[in-house]
Amino acid sequence: MSGHRVDVLIVGAGPVGGYLADKLASSGLSVLLLEEHKEVGRPFQCAGLVNPDAMEKVGLESTILTSVWGARIHSPKGTCVEVGERGKIKTHVVCRKLFDEGVVSKALDKGSDIWLNSRPVSAEVSKDNIVVTVDRAGQTVEVEASLLCGADGAHSWVRRYFKMGRPTELMIGFQAELVGYSGAEGRLDMFTGEEVAPGLFAWAIPSGRSWRIGVWSLANDLKGRSCEQLYETLLNHPIWKERFAGAKEVARYCGPLPCGIVAHPVKQRVALFGDAVGLCKPTTGGGIGKAFQQIDEMAEGLIKAVQTNRLSLSDMKRIAKPLKAMKKDQKRARILRDLFLTDCDDDKLEKTFKTFAKPQVVKLINENGDIEKPVALGIKMLKEVPEFRSMAAGATWALLKG
Ligand SMILES: Cc1cc2nc3c(=O)[nH]c(=O)nc-3n(C[C@H](O)[C@H](O)[C@H](O)COP(=O)(O)OP(=O)(O)OC[C@H]3O[C@@H](n4cnc5c(N)ncnc54)[C@H](O)[C@@H]3O)c2cc1C
Repeated sequence: MSGHRVDVLIVGAGPVGGYLADKLASSGLSVLLLEEHKEVGRPFQCAGLVNPDAMEKVGLESTILTSVWGARIHSPKGTCVEVGERGKIKTHVVCRKLFDEGVVSKALDKGSDIWLNSRPVSAEVSKDNIVVTVDRAGQTVEVEASLLCGADGAHSWVRRYFKMGRPTELMIGFQAELVGYSGAEGRLDMFTGEEVAPGLFAWAIPSGRSWRIGVWSLANDLKGRSCEQLYETLLNHPIWKERFAGAKEVARYCGPLPCGIVAHPVKQRVALFGDAVGLCKPTTGGGIGKAFQQIDEMAEGLIKAVQTNRLSLSDMKRIAKPLKAMKKDQKRARILRDLFLTDCDDDKLEKTFKTFAKPQVVKLINENGDIEKPVALGIKMLKEVPEFRSMAAGATWALLKG
């Protein structure tokens, strides 16, 4: 980097900004990360689930606190469906602080630079470059770049500044870290029902010596309650309160989950990544795996475009083409989630759980269940489980296939 001129300026040094910087710097581009906080990885709002594919991409196994091979999924009235096979790891649970630091360190090792305590204030795009005015620890400086990337999370400044649209859904997540929860080794718990998690689910995730207990919901489904109140209801719920007896809370977090890719993920010389573009999964809220996939699919095009300084709107749209398939997949996942969970009242859920609990359905879930690819399993269930066949009307089928 000479003066304040870089090939790529990335706003946000979370896991997504870090992974993107790593990819771009590895190909010889000069990269500068801006992080508004004084350190990487704090504060964070995350259950810390990182699937094995995503973990392999960054090789940060040292940040794993524990791994999960199965789940106990609870209906509103206490029917419990147990899925998973011991030894077949479905996901890892990481320390997010160490994970974020690890991803960003790798980018720095490849030659990226980082400015902490720094944020963009304004930006101007021209035919040849983009000039961003940055507040760097209280001082105003200008950075000239070929490309600006927004990896600045759910409330992305880049997305808002360039009017790139809004994520389809913005869920609210609340989580507490507890010691002394009576869970099952290697398995996470999911709780459903209007009282504890209207439209979605609450969770208990093992994280080494403690457990992460959380809930997420859509604002409309909360009907005036907060996610914190739902969490308190879960802790005192007659069916599950025994598990929390004697548990002690050691931390609390709250944060948004943007699900649904925005209308304009790219503009001339500007691109959005991860939470900024709305990549969280509508089925689980997980955002890291999909964001790494987005970067893998767009990196080569971006690198070539920066090297040749061809970053017009049409160039950028071509590079962002993989997002179309990801958007379609998100839409299908949302349809299936709504069918099986979000649009169901407690009685309907209870009925669905009775079917889920049948041995042949558990077998189907175990054989086809993949946290990253829920659509394939959902469609298989609609086709192969007689009790579910009538759930999807013709129009829904068309959307699922389309
Ligand atoms: C309760 C909860 C549980 C979750 N659990 C999981 C899970 O188990 N697994 C999973 O994969 N995902 C989970 N998620 C989602 C996950 O946290 C996000 O998808 C992931 O953090 C996205 O990474 P990111 O780098 O895009 O954004 P972030 O992690 O939000 O990072 C953005 C970075 O940009 C910085 N920044 C923001 N604005 C500016 C600015 N203007 N200038 C400079 N810097 C800026 C921030 O400080 C931050 O460091 C969860 C979310 C919540 C709320």
